[in-house]
Amino acid sequence: MKTPAIALSGLRKTFGAVEAVAGIDLEIADGEFFSMLGPSGSGKTTVLRLIAGFELPTAGTVALSGRDVTRLAPFERDVNTVFQDYALFPHLSVIENVEYGLKVRRVGRRERRQRGEEALETVRLKGFGSRKPSAMSGGQRQRVALARALVNRPRVLLLDEPLGALDLKLREQMQVELKQIQRDVGITFVFVTHDQDEALTMSDRVAVFDAGRIAQVGTPEQVYERPATPFVAGFVGTSNLLTGDAAQTLTGRRGAFSVRPEKITIGDEGAPGTVAEVIYAGPVTRFVVDLDAGARMVVVEQNRRTGTAALGEMRGRRVRLTWHQEHVIEIGADRAA
Ligand code: ATP
Repeated sequence: MKTPAIALSGLRKTFGAVEAVAGIDLEIADGEFFSMLGPSGSGKTTVLRLIAGFELPTAGTVALSGRDVTRLAPFERDVNTVFQDYALFPHLSVIENVEYGLKVRRVGRRERRQRGEEALETVRLKGFGSRKPSAMSGGQRQRVALARALVNRPRVLLLDEPLGALDLKLREQMQVELKQIQRDVGITFVFVTHDQDEALTMSDRVAVFDAGRIAQVGTPEQVYERPATPFVAGFVGTSNLLTGDAAQTLTGRRGAFSVRPEKITIGDEGAPGTVAEVIYAGPVTRFVVDLDAGARMVVVEQNRRTGTAALGEMRGRRVRLTWHQEHVIEIGADRAA
């Protein structure tokens, strides 16, 4: 295998009694769009700061392109960070903000301007150079922050919830753009988010964090379709967990199983139950069904034909649910538990 862009080995970080990072081994490939996904407090930002060099690990090592950088200062590492709040200088124009890193590194004026303009073009902000950040929208400021990092041509770009401050529409638009920009420049992106849709949409691979550890690493499809632990099944998308007697009755086996809501069909055959709740959500409707076998299942159906009037009458109805055997995923135990 090629030398990974980032290799973390036995990485730990404690703050007093808090174990923020509890032992992480991870390799991120060159040119990969890699996301760290997990709930608040699961240690994602701390791992990012350890890679950037803003924190020193309690134990373990950080290597960039095969070089151990664990003890090096941030500016000695070939990485740049884009923060959620952008941290732009308000008194400088957009192009001056973008050129700033080059100025610090004493790159000549002409080259600075040329590379600055190129970076603005990469983030689709050509012609905006003379504006002040205050005259830009949230999404545009976000792109200025990105240009300011890209202009240094780092091998690795670290992004800490960079879309967190944007409204949903803009966020979805920027997700597509960020992915395109990453493909264009070919830089390794490490992207921290607690938004599972965002991680699934943009990433080549995702690491799901659970209490300072990585519960699973895989492609979006692997993490969603084959969750390794109950935590992953529950955090990434909605999942129906079958355990105990319900699992025995419904699958014929003992253990813990998961079935995704969109894999279940409401019809005339299958496991009997009662509709407890009907939630209309535009393109889809979610049905909460209490099965006689003792499990509560969420079922998602696309609203191809159904009108809202008919949906209202579904509550309290007796129904039957079916799913394919191949969509029943056996899951192990939570490691963090
Ligand atoms: P969020 O999505 O909220 O940013 P996160 O997954 O990035 O969460 P971290 O910020 O890495 O989580 O924090 C992990 C744990 O470490 C938390 O319990 C947090 O309170 C703690 N922690 C982080 N930084 C420090 C610090 N400088 N001093 C003390 N505790 C800290």
